[in-house]
Amino acid sequence: MIDYSDARALVLAAAKRLPAESVPLARALGRTLALDIKAREDIPPFTKATMDGYAVRAADTRRSPAAPATFDAVELEVLEDLAAGRFSRKTVGAGQAVRIMTGAPLPGGADAVVMVEDTAKAGGKVKIWREVKPGDNIGLAGEDLKKGETAVERGALIGPPEIGMLAAAGLARVPVTRRPRLAVIATGDEIVEPGAKKKPGQIRNSNGPALTALAVQAGAEAAYLGIARDKNASLVSGLARAKGADILVLTGGVSVGDYDLVKAELERSGVKPVFWQVRIKPGKPAFFGIRRRQLVFGLPGNPASAMVTFHLFVRPAIDLLLGRAVPGPEAATAVLDETVDLKPGRTQFLRGRFVGRGPVLKVAPYEDQRSGVLRSMVRGRVLIVIPADAGRLEAGSEVEVLPLDGF
Ligand code: AMP
Ligand code: MG
Repeated sequence: MIDYSDARALVLAAAKRLPAESVPLARALGRTLALDIKAREDIPPFTKATMDGYAVRAADTRRSPAAPATFDAVELEVLEDLAAGRFSRKTVGAGQAVRIMTGAPLPGGADAVVMVEDTAKAGGKVKIWREVKPGDNIGLAGEDLKKGETAVERGALIGPPEIGMLAAAGLARVPVTRRPRLAVIATGDEIVEPGAKKKPGQIRNSNGPALTALAVQAGAEAAYLGIARDKNASLVSGLARAKGADILVLTGGVSVGDYDLVKAELERSGVKPVFWQVRIKPGKPAFFGIRRRQLVFGLPGNPASAMVTFHLFVRPAIDLLLGRAVPGPEAATAVLDETVDLKPGRTQFLRGRFVGRGPVLKVAPYEDQRSGVLRSMVRGRVLIVIPADAGRLEAGSEVEVLPLDGF
């Protein structure tokens, strides 16, 4: 048996970044950036008005120290009207202004914009009631990003803000890491697909669909290959069909029962075992091996064990194949809302939920932690990590948690 942290390290060491491919910007959501993207010009590309009003020399709006509190407005000559999208060839001189709209490039000579609300136009002149300082109501060229600065970093998960930034940088196509191809095989003589006729002694296959969904959510291209029966021939044909996958996930048949053939059959088909049986709960029977470049996970059949071990081992592997900066799930710290009293010996991952509304993050475990109880995953928004050497932990103790939301 191997410790959790050692097992995880072995998985991470085996997971290598996949090659890049190019996708249209509109299809890049949820993908992972394969290269640093640098700004090819200043963003914004020119200094512009951030308010509708008048582009002026700030010094022209300053009242003389001698002026009374109820001073008369400054009056400037208006050279032209400048809409967004146009570029002025005029230069604002002393005593002059340009009527300017938000987003229009600041004309030469001007160093500030006076909001239209602080002005009144009369003929070719504008009266200005408020003093502005240089830089007021303008956005400087390159204030978002300077030419050559990194707009979005390699390894970033591309969300809506990244899409916006890549668009601002002018990219119509985006270099992303290829999605890992992940195959799921469920095993067991007793399981039947939802919708199929169920005989006495049979149960529904919940792991196949749940693990396939987890894989999709983690960013993989998942293929569900169906159920292999607890017979060598059935497993062999399943394994053959999974040949092209970067990751193969099997569920069930990795324990020590008489019909648990998965491990032996994997080894016969050329999978080199890396570990089998981890000092964790749930998920002790988990198997990990490598077949050429393929990562092979034999997850336990119990539904909560299957999903927890997916989060602990398969998800970080997917993240590294994608080239993400940090392999998930990312740990946080929380406070136990109730005392837990457990048998020490294995690192435990209690399915729990967040309680209260802060300011401290509090967690409580779901009442039934048995590994066959799928409801603990449905109710569980977070895994509460209990170290292997901890027996009893009082309410109020700090614990590491692995939030599962978004999953
Ligand atoms: P195993 O790991 O094959 O010994 O299975 C452990 C438990 O999980 C047994 O009660 C199985 O019936 C159950 N199980 C195995 N595979 C699945 C599956 N795909 N969906 C739901 N339960 C399963
Ligand atoms: Mg089985």
